[in-house]
Amino acid sequence: MDFDKMFNAQLDALKDEGNYRIFAELERRCGDFPKAKSHDDDAPDEVTVWCSNDYLGMGQNPVVRERMKDVIDSCGTGAGGTRNISGTNHHHVELEAELADLHGKEDALLFTSGYVSNWAALSTLGSKLPDAVILSDSLNHASMIEGIRHSRARKVLWNHNDPEDLDRKLAALPANTPKIVAFESVYSMDGDICPMKEIVEVAEKHGAMTYLDEVHAVGLYGERGGGISEREGLADRITLIEGTLGKAYGCMGGYVSGSAALCDFIRSFASGFIFTTALPPAVAAAAKTSIAHLKRSQIERMQQRRQVARLRDRLDRYGIPHMDNPSHIIPVLIKDPVKCRMLADILMRDYGIYVQPINYPTVPKGTERLRFTPGPLHSDADIDHLVEALNVLWKQCAIAHAVA
Ligand SMILES: *Cc1c(COP(=O)(O)O)cnc(C)c1O
Repeated sequence: MDFDKMFNAQLDALKDEGNYRIFAELERRCGDFPKAKSHDDDAPDEVTVWCSNDYLGMGQNPVVRERMKDVIDSCGTGAGGTRNISGTNHHHVELEAELADLHGKEDALLFTSGYVSNWAALSTLGSKLPDAVILSDSLNHASMIEGIRHSRARKVLWNHNDPEDLDRKLAALPANTPKIVAFESVYSMDGDICPMKEIVEVAEKHGAMTYLDEVHAVGLYGERGGGISEREGLADRITLIEGTLGKAYGCMGGYVSGSAALCDFIRSFASGFIFTTALPPAVAAAAKTSIAHLKRSQIERMQQRRQVARLRDRLDRYGIPHMDNPSHIIPVLIKDPVKCRMLADILMRDYGIYVQPINYPTVPKGTERLRFTPGPLHSDADIDHLVEALNVLWKQCAIAHAVA
């Protein structure tokens, strides 16, 4: 059997569709974010990153960096084991307490990533609660979809951000079945925000538990960075809040928070928690420092909001259409995978602007886009440069301008 030939046939098909993924090889320049050195031959030496999930630049925060270095020196590099077998470090426990406090919950449980936390928590809940049914928003992230699939629980899809559809689907289930409503606060591809209060009320009406992914909201929304659930005053009505330490907090790791019994249940049964080496203690300590910082400091969030508003305003002035949403994510629809890739390539090569084209299967075919995430460290000049470049390309590519 010629396996490479089989691999290449499928890769070629991907390339023909324009959906083949090409990574930009960068060296982020600490102290100089969002600037990075590029290692690609057809890009300038220095580029500006416009699609980072290090939304607030916490990955270069001096206090967070010092903390990580200090704990490397005091505890060494790796955790040395799974949480059960010698890997639970004091810094993991402290971080879990910080996370529980962030969301006003009794407890929290750490994972090696947000992906793993969704996968492990949903597969455990769905498989260990007898006859559980998981009601999943139709645009949920791959990590939730895979967790639900792995649980083998019955899955019911409800229309994206549609509490009435959720209500109908919950009403059709037997009253005594355990029901789990899984959804996100900020959806990262369209940047839309769920109607959380309505969803919570519908779930409560049917006695369902709520499972909320706040990955694109923690650190960014709410007075203390507790996410949309904090901003809306709903955190205490959500059964489980899941988040990441790898995006706005600038480190790595994922978590769930909820009641002590819920966290103990997942700790005790989740394979993806039990059978893997714990996060490096230094990463846990740095994440805790980052969370604590963003509980107090509003500067990063305010400056991010300013730059997001500024980019939207400049795009409007040039008539470049972007999706209207209430978040920090600015998607510019291109609606064609090849054109999307081409635009991104030209932006990189001619302007030193790095924005990754977002193609299928991350988004549906025909909705290919460039997705910009302005942060507090993008200067006004960075924004002007980006909009002027887009304006030139818009004309060259003859993409229809927004109808004013
Ligand atoms: C990125 C992402 C995750 C996974 O988090 P990581 O820490 O990057 O593994 C989970 N949910 C959503 C909605 C995400 O966008």
